[in-house]
Amino acid sequence: MSYDTVIIGAGLSGLAAGIRLAYFDKKVCIVEKHNTIGGLNSFYRLRKRDHDVGLHAVTNYAEPGTKTGPLSKLLRQLRLRWDDFALCPQIESSIAFPGRTLRFTNDFEFFRQQVNELFPAQKDNFQKLLNLIDKHDELHLSSETTSARQVLGETISDPVLIDMLFCPLMFYGSATVGDMDFSQFVIMFKALFYQGFGRPLRGVRLILKNLANHFRRQGGELKLRCGVKQILTAGGIATGVELESGEIIEAKNVLSSAGSAETLRMCGDVPADFEQQNPPGEISYAETIFSLDCEPQDLGHNQTIVFYNDSDVFRYEPPSEPCDVRSGIICSPNNFQYGDEKLEEGRIRITALAKPSAWMGIPDEIYYPQKEEWCGKIVDSALRFMPDFRSHVVDTDVFTPRTITKFTGHANGAVYGAPNKIRDGRTHLDNLYLCGTDQGFLGIIGAMLSGITITNLHLLK
Ligand SMILES: Cc1cc2nc3c(=O)[nH]c(=O)nc-3n(C[C@H](O)[C@H](O)[C@H](O)COP(=O)(O)OP(=O)(O)OC[C@H]3O[C@@H](n4cnc5c(N)ncnc54)[C@H](O)[C@@H]3O)c2cc1C
Repeated sequence: MSYDTVIIGAGLSGLAAGIRLAYFDKKVCIVEKHNTIGGLNSFYRLRKRDHDVGLHAVTNYAEPGTKTGPLSKLLRQLRLRWDDFALCPQIESSIAFPGRTLRFTNDFEFFRQQVNELFPAQKDNFQKLLNLIDKHDELHLSSETTSARQVLGETISDPVLIDMLFCPLMFYGSATVGDMDFSQFVIMFKALFYQGFGRPLRGVRLILKNLANHFRRQGGELKLRCGVKQILTAGGIATGVELESGEIIEAKNVLSSAGSAETLRMCGDVPADFEQQNPPGEISYAETIFSLDCEPQDLGHNQTIVFYNDSDVFRYEPPSEPCDVRSGIICSPNNFQYGDEKLEEGRIRITALAKPSAWMGIPDEIYYPQKEEWCGKIVDSALRFMPDFRSHVVDTDVFTPRTITKFTGHANGAVYGAPNKIRDGRTHLDNLYLCGTDQGFLGIIGAMLSGITITNLHLLK
């Protein structure tokens, strides 16, 4: 069987690329090594409870019917309806540093006011930053990078405001340690502050199932439990893939969402200096998920997401210990505006930076107690920024960089992939392309836009 394109991975980027190709009558097959779709943003069921793997919030929120912005662009490109994502807006989120909190909603003016009230001396400087953000072409596919720290350092003179801005933007979309490319900063600034957060009541399942059904309805084929062992090449081009089962799938093009190093390794001919020039990412997280016998709001917690940091300096780097509990993200999936409906039970998720090597390759008798120990430390730290919920916990789950690698294949459990992004999706082979995490558009909406962008650029000509 020969296809126009075989796509490696049924995460959000692979599914979006597949829909776009199938819509234009290309013969397309997505192969996914796991038994379900979604990759880094999948879902699972544990002890009779449904969980999302990665979903805190869908960024880039827009009201139904909005004509501009990333969300409406992607719905148009995928021929999906607003109801297919059914996003309900957040209540309110915050960035909490010692003695200072910046609150934000999906109304940017509220955030601007908050910045002006908390940092009155920075009012003009913040406006200068907004002007730079507004005129920046963040989606340009050139791979030139500019230090966001340098741009902000030249614009804003209060280092605490700079770090309060970096904290949520890095947590939700930086593959690089300590600093970000300014284009990525702008993408994330707009995604979080201009547009904001939303979530479907049924979580990421709803989005993923609608994407997969839409793909199949257009004639696309989706094969689960079909890991790619190698990308087949002949005469300098890719000719298809060989699955772990030995089955061969021939295709005119291969599009991979597995990551850049991971994809090149499947070709078996990684250039000698590639690994040195393209090190795997180091940013990974431990995620703790608590099911409660009440709603977080019953305990006085009405924030959707809290990005916290316990000093004036925010450090975004792999920690020296298994986790870094100085900062983190508290997320309550209950705290969205669901109207008359609500989630079946209360949930709190707390995320902290984790050191990949501390979790990989250790025996189970060390791994599981270590998970429990750090879960306790993460909660103790977060309780400085939220009400104590511990007596209401009815179930707990924790995952680590090791879990992320196991279920997605990303080296180091790197949530945002490698630091060097390949913006135009090209590889050393003319008809092998990358989309998703290592192309560089990150997050749920970013991954889908990445699949669409690379497909439009190379596969629909
Ligand atoms: C804990 C956590 C929290 C997050 N929270 C948010 C959030 O709140 N909001 C947000 O917008 N984003 C969030 N993200 C980020 C977001 O999930 C990702 O940016 C996005 O899902 C990446 O999609 P992708 O398609 O690029 O990659 P992936 O999801 O990694 O897809 C790649 C797919 O390829 C498959 N694959 C790999 N190798 C092979 C092979 N050899 N053969 C076949 N298949 C293969 C993998 O199994 C995987 O399904 C979070 C991520 C994590 C881990």
